[in-house]
Amino acid sequence: MSEDEFLCVRCARHYKTCCQRCEIYVTPNDVDRITQHAQRSDFFEYRVPHDPDYADQDDDPAWRDHVFRQDGTRRVLKRQDNGDCTFLGPRGCVLPLETRPLVCRLYPYDYTERGIEAELSEGCPLELLRPGQGLIEALDMNLVDAQRWRSQLYEEIRLEHD
Ligand code: SF4
Ligand code: SF4
Repeated sequence: MSEDEFLCVRCARHYKTCCQRCEIYVTPNDVDRITQHAQRSDFFEYRVPHDPDYADQDDDPAWRDHVFRQDGTRRVLKRQDNGDCTFLGPRGCVLPLETRPLVCRLYPYDYTERGIEAELSEGCPLELLRPGQGLIEALDMNLVDAQRWRSQLYEEIRLEHD
């Protein structure tokens, strides 16, 4: 293990990563940004969450009421047969950071319309952190960007159906 190796690289060597197992909701504006960048629009579909935890959003009424349609489906990125996101390349996500779905940019911050939660989401391999290293530091993320993206996410969610 090299000292400067990025946590996500180590994660990919040991486990299935978030890009290989998560269901990613995309806002209407995410779709526009990605379509413009990728020059294709066949990357999303409407699906009921496989993981029932995704459907349990009573603590976040804006998410519950705008993201989900009457039939319980929501707009998500398509995945390959093995579960990988179609934007996952050999060196990670092929989309530039400011084009990636807002949900991807925010992970592993946990949030609701009220703000960013104190606790991070589960799913990253904390056992692969170096001694004394925090997860946000290891991922080279910061709260300022996360707050901006969370606000943008809820503005865009509200562009969905009422
Ligand atoms: S964000 Fe977390 S789960 Fe995703 S690849 Fe990086 S370490 Fe793994
Ligand atoms: S869009 Fe990029 S960051 Fe998001 S799940 Fe797909 S590969 Fe991962």
